[in-house]
Amino acid sequence: MHNIRRIFRYLRYYPGEVAGTIFFNILHVVFNLSSYVLIVPIIELIFGTSQPPAAEPTLAMNQQALTDWSLWFLYQMRDTWGIGYCLLMVSVGYLACNLLSNLFRYLGYYCVGPIRQGIVQHLRDDVYHKVTILPVSYFNSQRRGDLLSRMSNDLFDIEWSVVTSVLSVAKDPINVILFAGTLIFISPRLFLYFLLIIPPSVFFIVQIGKSLKRNSSRGQRKLGLLFSRIEEALSNIRVIKSFRREDDQYACFVQSNADYRKTMVRMARRRELSAPLSEVLGTIGLVCIIILGGNLVLNGEMHSSVFILFIIVFARLVSPIQSIVRAYNNLLKGDASAARFFELLDADEKIVEKPNPVVLDDFRECIEYDDVCFTYDNGQEQMPVIDHLSLTIPKGKTVAIVGPSGAGKTTLVDLLPRFYDPQGGEIRIDGIPLLDLHIGSLRQQIGLVSQNCILFNDTIAHNIAFGHEHYSEEAVRKAAQMAYADEFIAALPAGYDTLIGDRGMMLSGGQRQRISIARALLKNPPILILDEATSALDAESEYAVQQALNALMRGRTSIVIAHRLSTIQNAEEIVVMDKGRIVERGTHDELYRLGGLYHRLVETQSFS
Ligand code: ADP
Repeated sequence: MHNIRRIFRYLRYYPGEVAGTIFFNILHVVFNLSSYVLIVPIIELIFGTSQPPAAEPTLAMNQQALTDWSLWFLYQMRDTWGIGYCLLMVSVGYLACNLLSNLFRYLGYYCVGPIRQGIVQHLRDDVYHKVTILPVSYFNSQRRGDLLSRMSNDLFDIEWSVVTSVLSVAKDPINVILFAGTLIFISPRLFLYFLLIIPPSVFFIVQIGKSLKRNSSRGQRKLGLLFSRIEEALSNIRVIKSFRREDDQYACFVQSNADYRKTMVRMARRRELSAPLSEVLGTIGLVCIIILGGNLVLNGEMHSSVFILFIIVFARLVSPIQSIVRAYNNLLKGDASAARFFELLDADEKIVEKPNPVVLDDFRECIEYDDVCFTYDNGQEQMPVIDHLSLTIPKGKTVAIVGPSGAGKTTLVDLLPRFYDPQGGEIRIDGIPLLDLHIGSLRQQIGLVSQNCILFNDTIAHNIAFGHEHYSEEAVRKAAQMAYADEFIAALPAGYDTLIGDRGMMLSGGQRQRISIARALLKNPPILILDEATSALDAESEYAVQQALNALMRGRTSIVIAHRLSTIQNAEEIVVMDKGRIVERGTHDELYRLGGLYHRLVETQSFS
């Protein structure tokens, strides 16, 4: 249960609340117990079951002396004030104890609230922060739906099961200790009989707990799968519809859902088993006590009202014990979710920054790829995607990278902002290895415009100004103008304040591209990485996007994964890649004349 212990470590942020919870719960239990003790004189007064001692007994801290003294005092009171008045006083005392007990119970809950919600808030903050710093490679190997499920369902499960147990952990042991202490005080012998039923109870409880944990972990995994299916369907809805795979997808989902239900039903049945089981065991204990204790009373070894008090306190002891059992089971169940959650929180960040990194405040000379090798690490044996590649790009130059699909072009440019680190060789900017650089300052120098424009469900202005805390409307408008986007933005109903929907789906492909180009223009980085897209654009949009790109590349060092012949022809150098290596390089004319791979690509227009 070390995952649970880790969650409980968050309690250190709430010392005041934890102390308050424990303090108020002790008071709650003390007054609760006192109210039960007051039942004894009520019974005595009404039924007069015991004979009062003839003379005042000496007061001592043992059960017999205390009972005798209390009885003597009670009967003295009765004789002085009358039975009606006595009964009234004891009843008022009972009521006062009960009121105080419930007041402290509420104050206990009051302190637990911030702890519960606070722990979940901490966990949620931590995991979101983690997701933003995890390397890009992590999101390739993990299904997005499963990640979402860990951040929502597993966290919810932790909240429900683990954090709910916080109250039980704070309250029930106090309850059990004080109640059991009272029972021992009343009759150690009877309490001993009760202890006999504990070993079999513990055995059953542990068995149920283990099975719950197994099922819970299976259930959360299945829920993760279910979320993945939903996420996949939502992302690929167009493809699913166009290939008419709705029925298949639905059947697949139904199967996963039924699987999940089966696991959850099994778990619910196990969980519900623990309450009746502990109740039965408690009743067996009670019956033993009635038989054995009844004999003690009949033999005159115990006052009948004390015996009744024993039974009442005993009956009240069962409930916190049950609650501890429930909390234990919940903790085991939550442990499975916590394990999944912490797996995400502890995921290897891989792309780590050196201590005292060099801050790159400007780009002055050149980018060098020096004998770089890279293989995707996704658990399977892989061919190298970048294979001993060397390339120098001087400042101010535009380099076009072309090659067949899968040649490694995207991977090559992804290495520059350190989305991945190469396994061999070195990449340097101005002679400084990327590994020595402050990652934030490195990325600050790089603008990225990719095929899949990454837009957020926000206003156009915020999308353009993404990454800038303070920006002027003027600057945003200027960037949009340079990106040939101002005109269509002005025609939108709310202009720059128009909400563009999830991932910018209210805009056309060309419009989305121009927004992301405007974003790069506003960032104004000296180095530009461009993954051109042509496929999604009609001729008119393509022209506008091309104009915007030309504006963006002006005066910058650009690495362009080129798909348009026009871009390629204008590039100062063309690098032709195949199977992770550079196979040809030069200008358009030189390479075309060479008659090699580049020639073939141009002829077939297949710069994918
Ligand atoms: P290009 O951009 O030239 O089409 P990529 O750099 O995208 O090529 O991909 C190069 C090779 O690496 C391909 O064989 C592709 O299957 C593989 N690849 C790309 N991304 C990943 C990834 N995240 N995990 C594993 N393999 C990948």
